[in-house]
Amino acid sequence: MKAVKFFFFFLFTIGLTQNLWAADKIRVVATITTLADFIQQVTGDLADIYTIAAPKRNIHFYAPTPKDVLKVKKADVLVHTGLDLEAWRPPLLETAGNARFLGEAKFEIDVSKGIKLVEVPTILSRSQGDLHIFGNPHYWVDPENAKIMLETIANRLSELYPEHASEFQKNAKAYRNKIDEKMKEWLAFMEQFRGSSVITYHKSWPYFADRFGLKIVEQLEPVPGIPPTAKHLAKLRSLIPEKNVKLIIKETFGENRTSEKLSRETGVKVAVLIQNPGAAKEVQDYFSMMDYNFNQIRKALKNE
Ligand SMILES: [Zn+2]
Repeated sequence: MKAVKFFFFFLFTIGLTQNLWAADKIRVVATITTLADFIQQVTGDLADIYTIAAPKRNIHFYAPTPKDVLKVKKADVLVHTGLDLEAWRPPLLETAGNARFLGEAKFEIDVSKGIKLVEVPTILSRSQGDLHIFGNPHYWVDPENAKIMLETIANRLSELYPEHASEFQKNAKAYRNKIDEKMKEWLAFMEQFRGSSVITYHKSWPYFADRFGLKIVEQLEPVPGIPPTAKHLAKLRSLIPEKNVKLIIKETFGENRTSEKLSRETGVKVAVLIQNPGAAKEVQDYFSMMDYNFNQIRKALKNE
């Protein structure tokens, strides 16, 4: 049985190596679909982009596949969110053994550079099971941070491929301008909900909440990555009326039962928001993701 399994794995990997990357393109691996979208915007048709983690998944707990290993092995550039969001990244790079991403890792682009992080702990420790030991890594849901990320991608790619620098810079600037335009609309839309108290499931939304005027009072997870306990839920049940909580925000991943139960018990609606394009059919890029999330919030808060 083991031999049969190995045989299929062998066929699978042979199939993959035959047509692994498009010829004559910059081969870029992105860890998440948001980054793939930004890279696409910056590179136009110059890059062939492969994304590792599926958009609906909890990025913290992703398990790389043999295909991921093969893609990384032959990639030119790797773009990731840095910090400890992709805890699986270092072992994946080690397994793939691509010298570009080992040692000095000159061909790695860490887009957390230049981001003003929140919730940076004074002591680095996972003793409480915390998944965010370097600060909160869910920073891209603030479009102002998206602009910084685009700049980092364009600048680093320009260093690596100076022959395309002007195109990268031009594309990134155009996209940043587009974000500036949309920001006016998004901020105006969220004005009606300014100051609303919310509870989130995971600590995925502090950057989003700060930017768009929501007030996060608690999380369902007592510590990022630790499921809600009965004691913690009891605390939330009394906190909801006390702090006039209007909304529970949940991610597309993880169990829904607890937030739904809390919603039934307290009358507070749940909005399921998306963190990466592709997590819903109608959400295929960063702009439609933000629009989708604002609509989910409106539906929940207006009881539509
Ligand atoms: Zn997290």
